Amino acid sequence: MRKKKEPLLKIRSLTKKFNLQDGKKLTAVDNISFELYSGECLGIVGESGCGKSTIAKILTQLESVTSGNITYNNRDITHLKGEELRQNRRKVQMIFQDAAESFNPRMKIGHIVREPLLNFKLMNKRKAESEAKKLLAMVGLTEDFMGRYPHQLSGGQKQRVAIARAISLEPEIIICDEATSALDVSIQEQVIKLLMDLQKEKGLSYIFIGHDLAVVRNISQRIIVMYLGRIVEVIDSNRLTASAAHPYTKALLASVFSVNRENSTEIEIIEGEPPSPSDMPQGCGFSTRCKKCMDKCLKEKPELKEISTNHFAACHLFQE
Ligand code: SF4
Repeated sequence: MRKKKEPLLKIRSLTKKFNLQDGKKLTAVDNISFELYSGECLGIVGESGCGKSTIAKILTQLESVTSGNITYNNRDITHLKGEELRQNRRKVQMIFQDAAESFNPRMKIGHIVREPLLNFKLMNKRKAESEAKKLLAMVGLTEDFMGRYPHQLSGGQKQRVAIARAISLEPEIIICDEATSALDVSIQEQVIKLLMDLQKEKGLSYIFIGHDLAVVRNISQRIIVMYLGRIVEVIDSNRLTASAAHPYTKALLASVFSVNRENSTEIEIIEGEPPSPSDMPQGCGFSTRCKKCMDKCLKEKPELKEISTNHFAACHLFQE
């Protein structure tokens, strides 16, 4: 059913390289392709340095691409500039891990929430003031937060303000980059519930990026697992525990679901550190840590292939 729909966002062969001081290049994102469908929450998970936050910055156009392209609503938005770029940012909003860093500490919360409405000249100051109150109510904050400063709010309250500001421009897509990672577990659950309620109410689509597979699985319908700038597995969340195939995904599962596993899926413990992204192995990027590594894995990079319906993996174990 999902495959028949036209994707809202289409990413094709996206690569991002950074120049290092020693003249080497660091490949943060290596030739990745994926789609986001309308009303979907797509999770992207992986260890720090796997390229997931670079993807978030590219999609919100805070970073340029080295090669590849991004299509939004069938329009190529890879190299937008000026007013076109500004208008596109209305539709693709981002919520960062530390929302407070993007707030001006001298501005009151009311001002912070209404600012985008005024910047885009969507309404006058009086209307924006009453809209800001409505937006705060939507994220569970009372009117008296309008007069408070960011430092007077808890971490969870600041993330709610960031969500209110992100939805103020009526975006279609919200990219949550580790948006709940800094919160205590109970607050994290509340913020995730809020995001899910808003998704239903407003028909939003999310890309939810995180390092915690359990959290990402709870909110997402589909999960992309990344390792060293490449996609290693794409799987529906409800099939993750029973059907994860890639040794890296299994290792991530082992670290989060080791106590209460739902079935007898074989799991493996991950050991060692990933290699430097500026000095990648010739074959599979996971070969230095993989217990199933074969000769072929040291020589050839595995391509991402469909191994069962809507389930993709990049591993030589499934490519014979
Ligand atoms: Fe392990 Fe080889 Fe698969 Fe890489 S390709 S994950 S080294 S089995």
